[in-house]
Amino acid sequence: MTLYSGLVFDMARQQFQVIADYLEMPEDERDRLLFPKRAIAVACPIHRDDGSTAVLHGYRVQHHLTLGPTKGGTRFAPDLRLGEVAALAIWMSWKCALTGLPYGGAKGGVAVDPSALSRRELENLSRRYMQEMIPFVGPHTDVMAPDMGTNEQIMAWFMDTYSMYQGKTVTEIVTGKPVASGGTEGRREATGRGVGFLVERACQKIGMKPQGATAIVQGFGNVGSVAAQSLAERGMRIVGASDHTASYYNPRGLDVAALTKHAAKHGVLRGFSNELACDPRDLLTSPCDVLVPAAVERVIDADIAARMQCRILAEAANGPTMPEADLVLNERRKEIFVIPDILCNAGGVVVSYFEWVQDLQQFFWDEAEVMSKLYHVLQRAFTQVMTRAERDKVAHRTAAMAIGVQKVREAKRTRGLFP
Ligand code: NAD
Repeated sequence: MTLYSGLVFDMARQQFQVIADYLEMPEDERDRLLFPKRAIAVACPIHRDDGSTAVLHGYRVQHHLTLGPTKGGTRFAPDLRLGEVAALAIWMSWKCALTGLPYGGAKGGVAVDPSALSRRELENLSRRYMQEMIPFVGPHTDVMAPDMGTNEQIMAWFMDTYSMYQGKTVTEIVTGKPVASGGTEGRREATGRGVGFLVERACQKIGMKPQGATAIVQGFGNVGSVAAQSLAERGMRIVGASDHTASYYNPRGLDVAALTKHAAKHGVLRGFSNELACDPRDLLTSPCDVLVPAAVERVIDADIAARMQCRILAEAANGPTMPEADLVLNERRKEIFVIPDILCNAGGVVVSYFEWVQDLQQFFWDEAEVMSKLYHVLQRAFTQVMTRAERDKVAHRTAAMAIGVQKVREAKRTRGLFP
């Protein structure tokens, strides 16, 4: 019997079993590594604009504190469940360990559709959620960041709320803040730019020129839109793009700057074009060199994996590929180069770490310094994953997760088990 359930948690657990088997981990060690240290559930009552009161359900899961504080995003999404939050926290742990950050993973959020709230209601909810979390978070305990449905403004409200209760400004309590409130240069773009950087490394590895290559991006929020720009800057043609409201395909290439402008103005891609609209179900299996899922979990099942026509799968979203699809991708290893999520989207948490370090020191870097340090960390992680995968002849996901799991395991082993 466990607190955690649902398809996303089952997926994180299945992936972990694959790694534990590969590492020949004794059964009695597995639960200690897999199950989160803490899970917090809160009710967040807020005043609605019409004078009524609504109660929304919030969560925070802290996976382990073995290497330092926990770190992870905050998701505002209508169907958010504790199991999904736990899975995302677990993935964050392997990601932080893979990239060498002194953190355990965390994740949190509220089951809410943020687009259905007014700005005032969203501020009320953000502040109340942070206020409920104050006993459980802190700059050396658990540091929040943005994720789906949250943004820089919400991080600024989180920071302000926490600071008001402390009686002083505590910028290091969250990352992904606006630069004007103690954020770092480059954080907003970090995840998408990291995707662009790693796709370029993958191109080198398979001997494909980025110039003139084609890409499809699913999801056009923070990560997807910047990833599309970053690939376009490398000379790629973005032939497909979608969000939850619309899907577009143009073999001659979409105008990424115009799409970004439209999304910034309207909040969604809907209404961009009638002629270029396509069936969203076809997008992931349409021909392209680089496929970038940058939206939600579990969008690639075994059937889609068998029909995908890309040469590089760059997993910008967390958990886009189901374990049964992994079996298919394993068979297609020579055709499709997978950049697994915990590597592909790690740019976000790496620059969040830089933001935390700068806030703690009150010593700020310029954007060029942030980016060069980010690419250094991503290059190191990419090389480690390639070396491990080639040495042991395992899938890139197995190599990446094994490096992360092993680091956490080693830290737990050397620290021992209290008491
Ligand atoms: P966001 O809220 O800014 O954007 C999400 C996008 O996905 C939106 O365009 C939305 O319309 C779209 N979308 C939702 N459901 C969809 C569907 N069924 N089909 C197509 N599009 C759909 O979120 P984000 O911050 O860009 O996060 C996207 C993914 O990247 C998530 O998996 C998140 O966990 C992951 N991620 C984000 C960061 C970060 O720094 N923001 C870091 C690492 C990983």
